[in-house]
Amino acid sequence: MRRFARYLTALSRANALGDRVEWLFYPGMLQESRDKWWDDFGRRPCAHEGMDICFYRTKTKKMKCLSKTAQIPAMDNGVVLNICNDFLGQSLVVTHGKETFGSPDAILVYSHLEIQKNITPGSRIEKDQIIARVFDTSQKQSKLLPHLHISCIELIEKTPVDALNWALFADRGKINLINPVFI
Ligand SMILES: [Zn+2]
Repeated sequence: MRRFARYLTALSRANALGDRVEWLFYPGMLQESRDKWWDDFGRRPCAHEGMDICFYRTKTKKMKCLSKTAQIPAMDNGVVLNICNDFLGQSLVVTHGKETFGSPDAILVYSHLEIQKNITPGSRIEKDQIIARVFDTSQKQSKLLPHLHISCIELIEKTPVDALNWALFADRGKINLINPVFI
């Protein structure tokens, strides 16, 4: 099973969502989509830089979404490189080890979160450790539901860790995106 699929199982488990959880994705939640999956379902300002995780159903087949207190586990063992703001909450920038994603310079960005207070740049994290909870979007009157965004980013140039933020991640001339689904 691919790492992303295993991670969805870990996310189900961390939130005690029950057996036989199926995660559901609108087209607008997928990497490179130009469509919104919220509000007016119009166009995004730029192509989506990762995957959004929010909707699921259980064996009752009822569609549900992540609660505003959903717990976010780490995908793998790793080291926190940086914490930065995103347009909803905070992002955690992590290296999960050399060549974990087929590239020595690939990093994982977990976004739209409220990060655990004891996690700071330099912190070691372990697979399945709870690193954050989702950002409660109602605090910002956002029309977006609380959700986890994941980007897998290959850095083209050597970059200081404190410059690993959304100004860089949104600049397609400076990074390569790896589709998290295939890691
Ligand atoms: Zn997103």
